[in-house]
Amino acid sequence: MGLIVQKYGGSSVADAEGLKRVANRIVATKKAGHQVVVVVSAMGDTTDELLDLANQVSPLPNGRELDMLLTAGERISMALLAMAINNLGHEARSFTGSQAGVLTTSTHGRARIIDVAPGRITEALAEGAIAIVAGFQGINQETKDVTTLGRGGSDTTAVALAAALEADVCEIYTDVDGIFTADPRVVPSARKLKTVTYEEMLELAASGAKVLHLRCVEYARRYDMPIHVRSSFSNNEGTWVVKDHPEGGTNMEQAVIAGIAHDKSEAKVTVVGVPDRAGIAARIFQAIADADINIDMIVQNVSAAATGLTDISFTLPKTEGSNATTILQRIQGEIGFSSIQYDDQIGKLSLVGAGMRSHPGVTANFFSCLADAGVNIEMISTSEIRISIICRESDLDKGVRAAHTAFDLDADQVEAVVYGGSGR
Ligand code: ADP
Ligand code: ASP
Ligand code: MG
Repeated sequence: MGLIVQKYGGSSVADAEGLKRVANRIVATKKAGHQVVVVVSAMGDTTDELLDLANQVSPLPNGRELDMLLTAGERISMALLAMAINNLGHEARSFTGSQAGVLTTSTHGRARIIDVAPGRITEALAEGAIAIVAGFQGINQETKDVTTLGRGGSDTTAVALAAALEADVCEIYTDVDGIFTADPRVVPSARKLKTVTYEEMLELAASGAKVLHLRCVEYARRYDMPIHVRSSFSNNEGTWVVKDHPEGGTNMEQAVIAGIAHDKSEAKVTVVGVPDRAGIAARIFQAIADADINIDMIVQNVSAAATGLTDISFTLPKTEGSNATTILQRIQGEIGFSSIQYDDQIGKLSLVGAGMRSHPGVTANFFSCLADAGVNIEMISTSEIRISIICRESDLDKGVRAAHTAFDLDADQVEAVVYGGSGR
C-alpha cells in the first residue's frame, strides 16, 4: 500500500462523463489498496472562459478579484468529482487550496508556493477518505487572500502536495499518452518518451512545452519526486520524469535531442538608437525589472561606428507587452533612444537534450534544416542543453516539423493520440 497523488487536467474532467470516468479511475486506485489524494483542474476551458468574462467587464481586472474569480473554476470541479466518487460508494472530501494548506506568496496571478501544511488531507486519509484538492490555488497568510499559481499551475499543486505528504509517486493525467518528442498537436509523428530527466523537462517546460508547469518540475527535482505523466483516456504507460535515465534503457536517451518545444506566447521589444555607453542597458532592464516583468532573450547589436548608437532587443510574455512599452516610453527622454518597436508575431523554437553536451554540430544541423525549410532566424540563445531561436510565428510549426525530422525523431508509425482538449 502506498500514497499516490493523482492530478487530472481540465480536458480530463471537461464534462459530466469525464468526471465520472475519472471518478472510476480514482476508485480503482483506492480499491488496489492505495491512499489517494487527487488534485483537479477546472473543467475544460473554464479558466479561459472566466478570463474572457473578466475582460468583458474590465480591460484591466483587479488581481485580487481575478484570483477570486478563477479559483471558482477548480471549486466546481472538485465538488462535482467528490460527488461522483461518493456515488460509487466511496467517501471523498473536497478541499480548496487554502483548506489543503497550500500557502503562497501574495502576488496575484503568479503566486509561488512557500509551504504546504496538509493537516486536513492527512486527517481525511487517516479516516479512509479520498481527498480531492482544488489545483492552481492557495492562500497568503499575511493578506489572507486567495491566490493563483499561474496558468497550468495545478501540476505544481500536485507535486507540492506529493512532496509534503511524502507520496510514492505523483501521477499527472492529461489528454495525451505522456511526454513526446514534440507537441503531438503540431507533430503527429512525435514519439513518446519512456523517461525524461528533471533537467531536460525543466528546459522543455521553460521553453513552452505546456504538458507540465515549469514550477512543478522545479519542485519535483528539489524533492526528487518521480512524476508519471499519462493519459486519463487510456491505460497506456506514460512518461516518467526522473533524476536520471535508467542504465541501458532503450529509450531515446541515446538520442542527442530529447525533445523540441515551441512557444507562441512571447513578443519582442526593440529599443532603437540606444547610446552605446556603460550603464544604459542596466538602466533599461532595471526599469523593466522594477515592474516585475520577466524577460527571456536579449540581443544587442554592435553599434554603428559613425553614430555610437545601437539597438537592444528582448523578448517577454505578450501579456506584459503594453506594460513594458509604457515603462520604456517613460524613460525615453532620460536615456535618449530614438524609438520602440513592438512585435508580437514571433515564435520560439527550442531543441533540448542532455546529449548536446557531448555532440558538436547540433547547432549547424539545426540551422541548416531551418534554412532548408525557409525559416529565417531572428534571435538565438543557448544553454548547456538547449538551443532556442526566434522566428516568424507563421513559420514556427513548419520549423518544429523540419527539426523533428532532421534530428531523426519521427516515429515509424504514428503513435501520438490527442484524446481531448481544445489545445487552448
Ligand atoms: P491539462 O489540461 O491536462 O493540464 P495541458 O493542455 O496543460 O493539459 O497539457 C497537455 C498538452 O500539452 C497536450 O495536449 C499537448 O498539446 C501539449 N504539449 C506540448 N508539448 C508537449 C510534449 N512534448 N508532449 C506532450 N504534450 C505536449
Ligand atoms: N485551470 C488552470 C488553468 O487553466 C490551472 C490548470 O489547469 O492547471 O490554467
Ligand atoms: Mg496543464
